[in-house]
Amino acid sequence: MDEYTEKLRNLIQLSDRMTIFTGAGISTESGIPDFRSPNGIWSKLQPIQFQDFIDSAEMRAEAWRRKIIIDKDMQKALPNRGHRAVAHLVDSGKCQTVITQNIDGLHQDSGIPDQNVVELHGNGTYASCLQCSLRHELEPIFEAFNRDNTLPVCRHCGGIVKTATVSFGQAMPEEAMRLSERSTLSCDLFIVLGSSLVVFPAAAFPQIAKQNGAKLVIVNREATDQDRIADLVVHQEIGQVLGDATGVD
Ligand code: NAD
Repeated sequence: MDEYTEKLRNLIQLSDRMTIFTGAGISTESGIPDFRSPNGIWSKLQPIQFQDFIDSAEMRAEAWRRKIIIDKDMQKALPNRGHRAVAHLVDSGKCQTVITQNIDGLHQDSGIPDQNVVELHGNGTYASCLQCSLRHELEPIFEAFNRDNTLPVCRHCGGIVKTATVSFGQAMPEEAMRLSERSTLSCDLFIVLGSSLVVFPAAAFPQIAKQNGAKLVIVNREATDQDRIADLVVHQEIGQVLGDATGVD
């Protein structure tokens, strides 16, 4: 165990009210590409703004085209060692809340109960109507789109159907923001795992935790703007560092 992992282990041992904040980086070891690594999705594609999705059928078609491609990785992905270590910390009672920017559902798949996971950017494993919120499953949408580019509309109200994720320019979910704020302000240790910390308002939570007196740890391959305020920064792979620090395989 190197000195960084040892320090992380000590901070975890001393904490009894920890909040864990995860980004796309925790899922790369499960085979899902992140957005901002050199080979990440945004190195190839521009994000589609929410208003453009609403205004333009061509943008909606492009969004579903991308979704079908991304889902090939997402649907076969399984939780990795990093997810299992986080699940262990929740199970042990040390960590009450996992705030995630991820939309892949892998924290829940690793056994963390729904009530301990706050999905800040929604969930990409299903779709919902933007007007009446009715849930729609992805498979029939993919089938119709692959057949003749049919765009999904709500069977209940005729509204536009979109994956249940939060796009750029779309309002943040109020309840998820409230729960994130509460756990950020009540924790004694805040651990960031695999986030470039450039997407706001999500990226404000580590700063808020630190200003409120919690210790701040950032585990991320690359440097982030918040490294300078953190108590511990580890530029290594999440699975190995957190796995070793928690004794989880
Ligand atoms: P990001 O792509 O901006 O940053 C990911 C960071 O993780 C990078 O800085 C990278 O260096 C680091 N990283 C990658 N693999 C790592 C590893 N194995 N160990 C340590 N560090 C690693 O991601 P973000 O900050 O989460 O913001 C992007 C947005 O992308 C989020 O809103 C999220 O909704 C969405 N997203 C989600 C998924 C997913 O659900 N798995 C995948 C891609 C993007």
